[in-house]
Amino acid sequence: MTLSESSQTLKKSFSTFGRISEIDLHDERSWLGRFFVTLDVDWAPDFVLRDIYDLLEELGVVGTWFATHSSEFLSDLQQKQKHEVGVHPNFVPLLMGTAKSHGVRDVVDAARQMVPKAKSFRSHSLVQASPLSDVMIEYGFEFDCNILLPFFDPTWLKPWRHCNPIVKVPYVWDDYMSLVGACQPTSSVTSAGGLRVINIHPIHAWLNSISLSSYNSVKESMHDEPRMCRAQSPSASGGIRDLFVGMIKKVKELEL
Ligand SMILES: [Zn+2]
Repeated sequence: MTLSESSQTLKKSFSTFGRISEIDLHDERSWLGRFFVTLDVDWAPDFVLRDIYDLLEELGVVGTWFATHSSEFLSDLQQKQKHEVGVHPNFVPLLMGTAKSHGVRDVVDAARQMVPKAKSFRSHSLVQASPLSDVMIEYGFEFDCNILLPFFDPTWLKPWRHCNPIVKVPYVWDDYMSLVGACQPTSSVTSAGGLRVINIHPIHAWLNSISLSSYNSVKESMHDEPRMCRAQSPSASGGIRDLFVGMIKKVKELEL
């Protein structure tokens, strides 16, 4: 095998769509030009999660799922190993004084027990603080995905070492931010190189949300499937599912 053939072989070992924990700061090919789909689970019911999992499979992409709770689907997903399961700890009740837990360590401990092999995390509502990082390190987490840069050109983005061993992995597009008009157009993300990490919430992809109103109408009754179905926006109405599918198809098209 010639040198160029062997470098081609190595190059092929990284597919376009990746999982966050594949990022290696010593090997630029593990993130440069790749596309990472993350999913903030946000307590969505299993029928929603299964449908979005099937969608990813259909599109031929892997995801990094940030789990908020235990469920049959999320337990099965941890066994599959094709997709990555990280955690989405909720520190907000601690900040608001409504928590049942006694502190940060309780929240992180529960997250670790829920996903014993998780390496990556993103806090619900992007809560960050140095003491939180210290506890995440103590519990063996390595990839912090809390930095959202919705108007940055992905070409200029890269992961970086924070406090050892935490690696910060910024993301550039988020479905919720898109719904509130605070995100760059999807075309700016799909056509760029650099580090492309996007985030969807399974509930918004399932509802094909075109505004926050459909979600707000069902968020207190997410386990009521018939009611949820009535809140879905039809296909091709420009909702989050349509945007997401369009992004993946565009990235695949540009890959050819
Ligand atoms: Zn969240």
